[in-house]
Order: sequence, then C-alpha cells, then structure tokens
Amino acid sequence: MKRIIIAIDGHSSSGKSTMAKDLAKEIGYIYIDTGAMYRAVTLYALQHGYFSGETIKEDALRQALPSIHIAFRLNPQTGRPDTYLNGVNVERDIRSMEVSDKVSLVAALKFVRQAMVAQQQEMGKAKGIVMDGRDIGTTVFPDAELKLFVTASPEVRARRRLDELKAKGENTTYEEVLANVKKRDYIDSTRQESPLRKAPDAIVLDNSEMTIAEQKAWLLEIVRQRIQDIQV
Ligand code: C5P
Repeated sequence: MKRIIIAIDGHSSSGKSTMAKDLAKEIGYIYIDTGAMYRAVTLYALQHGYFSGETIKEDALRQALPSIHIAFRLNPQTGRPDTYLNGVNVERDIRSMEVSDKVSLVAALKFVRQAMVAQQQEMGKAKGIVMDGRDIGTTVFPDAELKLFVTASPEVRARRRLDELKAKGENTTYEEVLANVKKRDYIDSTRQESPLRKAPDAIVLDNSEMTIAEQKAWLLEIVRQRIQDIQV
C-alpha cells in the first residue's frame, strides 16, 4: 500500500500534537513533532546564555547550530517519541514556560528554520509520516498528500495548556498561559520567514467544541479516504 505524507499545521496548543501522535500510532506511521525541534534549539540557547531578555545572540547561535543534534527515540512507557538534545532526554524541559516564552523568537530566525526544514524534509523522504508544526503544508512538504489546519479559540487553547502544565506540576496561571498563547500566535503568523498560514489545499479543523474521541474519529475517516484515493 502506498504511503503518504500527512502535514498537520495549526495554532499553539490546538491539540494538533496529540492528534498527530495518536494518528501515527493508529496507522503505523512515523510521527515528527517539529515544534519539539524548535523548542530543543531554544533550550540549548537558554542553557548557553544566548538570551538577554527578548534579545538573542544570533551569531553565537548560528555558530553553535552544527553542534545541536536533535533526535527522537520511542519511549516504551508512553509509546510516544521523546526528544533528545545532544543525547540527553529533554522531553520535559522543552515544554517548560521558560522555553515556551522564547521559542517563537528562535523559530523566527531564518538560519534556524533552514536547518530544521532540511532535517524535516530528510525525515519525510520515505513517506509514511505524520508531521506537525506551523509550516509543514506550506514550506516543508508543499506536495503532502493530506494537509490539515487545526485551530481552536485562544481561551480554549490556554485552558488545555494550563491543565497540561498543572498535571506536570508547573506553577502558572491561566492569564499567563493565555498571554503566551496569544503572543506565540502573533509572532508565528507575522514573522517574515514561513509565517503560520493555512495552505490553500488544507482541510480546516476547529476543535473548540470537540472531544478528543470525536476528533480522532473525524480524522481517521479523512485519512482512510485519502489513502484509498491515492492507491488508484
Ligand atoms: O508546536 P509547538 O507549540 O510545540 O511549537 C513551539 C513553537 O515552535 C511555535 O510557537 C512556533 O514558534 C515554532 N514552530 C515553528 N514551525 C514549526 C513548528 C513550531 O515555527 N514547524
């Protein structure tokens, strides 16, 4: 059976990662969380003191980029891939508010995007992949066989993200999370390099009023149909 590329883009905390992970597991595809890659670069920049406030030492990061190695390895306990930065499991650290606060600044840098996009295109060469991010259907795989654009209201997204952070023991408020969600939406959609856009041929899913189970059923139907269409 021919395998396809499924590109899932959308706003921060729209639930696209959960959706993409579950889908990949269900249909036996590889899942790549491209947000985790930008988060890992951001963590590296924070660990090496490349930030002063909202300003980043671009030259230092540019020089360090070849020594930033990002990999995904399956966690047998969760059945999901964990992110490794230079051999260290950083799955938890990259989800912190500190990283969330700075990641959109790093992701707006052209040289960072070029390096990440090249790696992502390599990962998708063999197809059979579900990749989620902001520019997958527009820049990384403009010819992907199936493109989705996932969104929900900022308030619903902030509430979901807050629940996730609280479950991990992070001490933060709804207001703080909502401000971060809105800030990332703004930076991601107004940046010069590959701004967050719906690809013209992407199917839109607003899941503000949907449960995870409803979303899963909806998605599986679309994917099965598209995979079937591709075979003929
Ligand atoms: O998906 P997630 O919210 O973890 O992504 C973190 C950040 O990484 C986004 O807010 C965005 O700034 C950036 N990103 C991006 N392009 C991607 C994936 C993520 O610019 N393909």
